[in-house]
Amino acid sequence: MNWEPWTGCYKASDGCTNCYFYGPHAKRYGQNMIEKTDKFDWPVRKNTKGEYHIKGNKILATCFATDFFLPEADEWRKEVWTMIKERRDIDFLILTKRIDRFLVSLPTDWGEGYDNVNIGCTVENQELADYRLPLFLSYPIKRRFIACAPLLEAIDLTPHLHGVDHVTVGGETGRDVRVCDCDWVLQLREQCAKANVTFWFKNTGSLFKRDGVVEKINPFKQTSVAKELGIDISDGKRLF
Ligand code: SF4
Repeated sequence: MNWEPWTGCYKASDGCTNCYFYGPHAKRYGQNMIEKTDKFDWPVRKNTKGEYHIKGNKILATCFATDFFLPEADEWRKEVWTMIKERRDIDFLILTKRIDRFLVSLPTDWGEGYDNVNIGCTVENQELADYRLPLFLSYPIKRRFIACAPLLEAIDLTPHLHGVDHVTVGGETGRDVRVCDCDWVLQLREQCAKANVTFWFKNTGSLFKRDGVVEKINPFKQTSVAKELGIDISDGKRLF
């Protein structure tokens, strides 16, 4: 399930170049207009019987269509942390390209982190991996994953995998996108296997290079083509 407490975003780094906020959907999604959605308080909303609308024992992925750590959301994020604390029966999955703003608006009782929060740090190239991941690993977070998406070049994650549970990799989707090379994906898989970290190749992107040949992959097939490679490393637990 997805929960978007606010909408709108703008570029944080190179991986954002072909984000839908910059593509044909820019107007529809309101690029640069950061606004609360009507689902802002969804996790704690109750029906007339006093029961939560969202039942427990779920994974709720939040801010996959905006960024949880946008400066414009600093005040709203305080309220969201309170909701997350109230719903200890839900696992919240938060993916960000702004991990360097993690400490802003963090609750005073955060301590070593809430058990039900799983934070994903996106890195799309080596420079960003070397900037964001040491920060990511220095923060008090109980559950961490890395998302190399869109993967724009070969990345060595080896120095940054200690304390990370999982790595997700994906290519870029759209018209004028950059190529995702299967060799880069396999190298990341190898690094994860050595570090005993689970790995999921979630999609090939629109241009996927294999054995020196670049293939154009239909958006509806990008997940299945990635899966057919059979390179995922799972520990049997569900992350998404
Ligand atoms: S941070 Fe995410 S949602 Fe925001 S512009 Fe970049 S890719 Fe798009």
